[in-house]
Amino acid sequence: MTSEGEFGLIARLAPFLSAAGEDLVVGHGDDAAVLEVGGRGVCIAVDVLVDDVHFRRDVSSLEDVGWKAVAVNCSDLAAMGAAPTVAVVGLCRPAGMPAADVESLYRGMDAACRRWGLRLVGGDTVDAGALAVSVTVLGDVDPDRAVRRGGARPGDVLVVVGQLGAPAAALAQVRAGVPPDGPLLALHRRPEAHVAAGRALADAGATAMIDVSDGLGADLGHVCTASGVGAVVDAAALPVAAGVAEAAAALGRDPLDFVCGGGDDYALLAAMPPASVDAAVAAGATVVGRVVDPPASPVLSLPDGSRRDLSGLGWDHYRKDAS
Ligand code: ADP
Ligand code: MG
Repeated sequence: MTSEGEFGLIARLAPFLSAAGEDLVVGHGDDAAVLEVGGRGVCIAVDVLVDDVHFRRDVSSLEDVGWKAVAVNCSDLAAMGAAPTVAVVGLCRPAGMPAADVESLYRGMDAACRRWGLRLVGGDTVDAGALAVSVTVLGDVDPDRAVRRGGARPGDVLVVVGQLGAPAAALAQVRAGVPPDGPLLALHRRPEAHVAAGRALADAGATAMIDVSDGLGADLGHVCTASGVGAVVDAAALPVAAGVAEAAAALGRDPLDFVCGGGDDYALLAAMPPASVDAAVAAGATVVGRVVDPPASPVLSLPDGSRRDLSGLGWDHYRKDAS
């Protein structure tokens, strides 16, 4: 892979991809695409999980991997305000992988499908050099209510649904050879997708929404870029998962690296008009900051009054130092 990274590569692919227009309500560049079919919005997302890149077999069971493959797509649909309905699976199976292991993977996918009320309706199996699972999820969304990344306006309030920092903290413990904290590891293995909250925020009038898969800094950066705004996040207000601060202290790490730059949180980040904030809070959201003028990289406001650039924090799988 070149040094331009995942986001740079995706930008080069834009000429081959469709932007919104006619029946395509949301094209490439968002958490999921939305196609209008017979007056209904069909939301479509795909995510690929590769052994030793997106999961470690010594950390996650195959059931956990199956769960996560479905959950991450449900999270992308949640970020559009959509409800998942069906999924198909592309399975890359390494030579010698026992059928019982494949069944374990599917037991995890089945558990996640039950959790979020979607059905597995097919897929494809190929022999491959490494285990990889690609899940495509379709869902329902009101085409007039699909929430994009680009609608945030100065004066909007930033909210987060879910917790931040746990998966990255657990992984850092594993890498350091420290026995991982149980609840942190559980959040790493079986992320939640906030589907009901995503719909509630959409109904409440969210102007922009994204799921936090690459780290709060990177994903808020995407919202700022797409919306042409800046953002200020209050560090003290962030919903940090219990145990992250202790894990960071024991590892000699800055907890904000896990909370803002870790990734794999699958929290929802949304911009709400001020009049809609109460409804967002009632749906489980925490107020974390505000959208500002002029367009700029997001910044983190610390309790001592200092500010830190948030944009450099975030997970990019192709980055050389992101091992
Ligand atoms: P997320 O983290 O929400 O899964 P990504 O960062 O993977 O989002 O993708 C951002 C956008 O780029 C999405 O609209 C996605 O559909 C698009 N995208 C990513 N990779 C590719 C690819 N290889 N080909 C076409 N579109 C892509
Ligand atoms: Mg996403």
